[in-house]
Amino acid sequence: MQLQQLQVSNEAEYRELLHDITCRTSAFLARAGVGDGARPSAGQKAGPVHATQEEVVALLTPPTPAAEKALFAAADRVRRAAVGDAVHLRAIIEFSNHCERSCWYCGLRRFNRKLPRYRMTVDEVVEAARAAIALGFRTVVLQSGEDSWYDERTICTIIRRIKAISLPSSSGTVAITLSLGERPRAEYAAFREAGADRYLLKHETADPELYRRLHPGMSFTNRKECLHWLRELGYQVGSGNIVGLPGQTVSTLAADIGFLSELDVEMAGIGPLIVHPETPLGKLVERSNGKEAGLPADAVTMTLRTVAAARLLLPLAHLPATSALGTADPRGRQRALQAGANVVMPDLTPTRYRRHYEIYPNKICIFEDPSSCFNCLSRMITGLGRFVATDPGHSPKWQLPVGRR
Ligand code: SF4
Repeated sequence: MQLQQLQVSNEAEYRELLHDITCRTSAFLARAGVGDGARPSAGQKAGPVHATQEEVVALLTPPTPAAEKALFAAADRVRRAAVGDAVHLRAIIEFSNHCERSCWYCGLRRFNRKLPRYRMTVDEVVEAARAAIALGFRTVVLQSGEDSWYDERTICTIIRRIKAISLPSSSGTVAITLSLGERPRAEYAAFREAGADRYLLKHETADPELYRRLHPGMSFTNRKECLHWLRELGYQVGSGNIVGLPGQTVSTLAADIGFLSELDVEMAGIGPLIVHPETPLGKLVERSNGKEAGLPADAVTMTLRTVAAARLLLPLAHLPATSALGTADPRGRQRALQAGANVVMPDLTPTRYRRHYEIYPNKICIFEDPSSCFNCLSRMITGLGRFVATDPGHSPKWQLPVGRR
């Protein structure tokens, strides 16, 4: 995409741009047959919502606090029209903190010798899922570092056993999201065949050079290939990016949103960078007091703007209010839920393991037991005038006729 100069230097121009983009979003929703009075166009595909990279850059840089407020309010209105007031809770079970990779910011990197490592047994994972289902969760997210100790057969066994758990007072099965990193296509196919519904593989950054620098031995090209395999195999695909990476610019973030749109993701996890101290980036930050590491100043604000822009351009996507946002700002999740987000992903890993899944330090809700966690989140959600969804929360795109997805 060519980045040209777009003149949005004052609030009036910003509001004009915002109005123009939200009109395109409304037209998209009408084509999809979503929202009050919408009439789907016969045989026409709904999306995506088109915006140039220069428009997205402008959207991400509101010139005044009032303009920023208008962005969040527009995203909140679109969220209500597109996916309603329900907030979907996804129970994350982090079953292994072993990782064969060495990403520059992540505490699970294999060279972090200070982290006590754990692997949950198959029975432990299934029991954690059973407990989450009993509490009312209708999606479990099985997450780990890149850990090939769990081979295809083991993961398929876990999926089948969780899928066989009957749901209290309803038919159907719990939805399973996998978040296991990069795997061979044949394994993704086997997991899907075993019953996995969704796969979350964040692209982290759509800048190939930045990606290469922060993820030794990995490439953006491979990442994209994995995501395309997941799409071909019929998963509901989740991806997403980190906000606040060193050297990242607003154009990079606009490219991230462009990439998510191009992939037409069903879910996009957008969260701020929180550097773990036992990593190369952590050491760099420590030595330079944050200055030479080139970290942008306010990752929380920029994350909220990115979530809001993603809601306008991917209106039917599920957008989580991430735990990283809640860690970086005590009201971060509430703020995200009021700026376009509609998902919260609490950590239901057994408490004896949970604190060791230390991608970043000081993560919220490390010691809460699962039932108080569910109640606490329910209060937070109802306090915002929203409600907790009681269904598995499959992508709304999945409910559209095939031709309009
Ligand atoms: S970001 Fe993911 S792949 Fe990279 S070290 Fe952490 S857990 Fe491993």
